[in-house]
Amino acid sequence: MKTNKIMITIDLEDWFQVENFKNCIPFSQWSDMEQRFEYSTRKLLKIFDEKGIKATFFILGWNAERAPRLVREIHNLGHEIASHGYSHKLCSDVNAEELREDLKKSKSILEDLTGSQICGYRAPGFSITDKTILHLKEIGYTYDSSYNSFGLNHRHGKMNLTQYNKKLLAYQDSEGFWELPISNLDIGKIIIPWGGGGYFRLFNKTLFRFGVERIMSKERGYMFYAHPWEIDPKQPQVKEAGLSFRFRHYFNLKKFKDKLSSFIDSFQNCSFVTCSQYISFLENR
Ligand SMILES: [Zn+2]
Repeated sequence: MKTNKIMITIDLEDWFQVENFKNCIPFSQWSDMEQRFEYSTRKLLKIFDEKGIKATFFILGWNAERAPRLVREIHNLGHEIASHGYSHKLCSDVNAEELREDLKKSKSILEDLTGSQICGYRAPGFSITDKTILHLKEIGYTYDSSYNSFGLNHRHGKMNLTQYNKKLLAYQDSEGFWELPISNLDIGKIIIPWGGGGYFRLFNKTLFRFGVERIMSKERGYMFYAHPWEIDPKQPQVKEAGLSFRFRHYFNLKKFKDKLSSFIDSFQNCSFVTCSQYISFLENR
């Protein structure tokens, strides 16, 4: 029996919507940019189809409005659709009213398109807070997947998880709401980001696999995240952005596709599940 479970999650945003380029390309200019997310998401879908796995797509409402066919296609292929908010503003950068509006709007757009309830949310830049969780619950979300324990990134939000019960890699509060954190590697007291994104492109694939195995030996599960633009080395270059932002965004894009494919192949002894499937597994254990 495959005891370890891996969740592959995609934050569905385009090259011009990322935090690293926010100072160069504000929300008001998004419509003028070359949209590539449909093309790059289809490249990801092809890999998942070839490997026979299901993933969870945290989709920006702005993108869903512009690519309704893509959203339905992802849904019809059996992947899970969840929300990445509407406009990719950090939870810490907006007031309560704006945040609630953003959370509601993205949920209702995705529900209208799929005809199914949207349960999950991932905060832009992992900027989740305890307050945001309260809004999520009120609006009808049943899980969040944004907590990132790596403390050196100032965008990451903070959550008080002491009131939650830990169940394998997840946390559940007394009202039944789930938090599915991004997986990181802890060596003693040191936390190394190991959930995917730029770190997946940075680390050598054998080393990365070793770290994931170590995480799974403790938690019997692993939460991975990536973005469509990571599989698109031909995307337009944002030359005005700072060097460190450019490095983080463009490093090893050309190798991403093969690396992702071989990452999935190397864990054939695990089951790949969506976030909701993982929660059902925990609830029925
Ligand atoms: Zn994002």
